[in-house]
Amino acid sequence: MAMPPYTIHCQACGAKASLKVASHWSDGETRELKTYSIVCDSCLDAALKMAKARHLHCQVLPGESIEPPGVWELGAGKSSGALVRRPDLENASQ
Ligand SMILES: [Zn+2]
Repeated sequence: MAMPPYTIHCQACGAKASLKVASHWSDGETRELKTYSIVCDSCLDAALKMAKARHLHCQVLPGESIEPPGVWELGAGKSSGALVRRPDLENASQ
């Protein structure tokens, strides 16, 4: 699936989004990246805090697992498999 040609906007403030907050989810066979939010640099802290809070209350079925939220760069024109993870940004709010 090709990336849409239009700009992706921050879900919090409407500016151009550059980052994705997401968690790897797995049921033991399938592994997916579950998106919490799409944000710009300045809204990342708040989005990451919210994702971490949601993660704590996340219900998973037996056999399923979900990793703590992480941060990925939104690369224009890249497929989701080519997203670059930014661990340096993941502890910004701690
Ligand atoms: Zn924003």
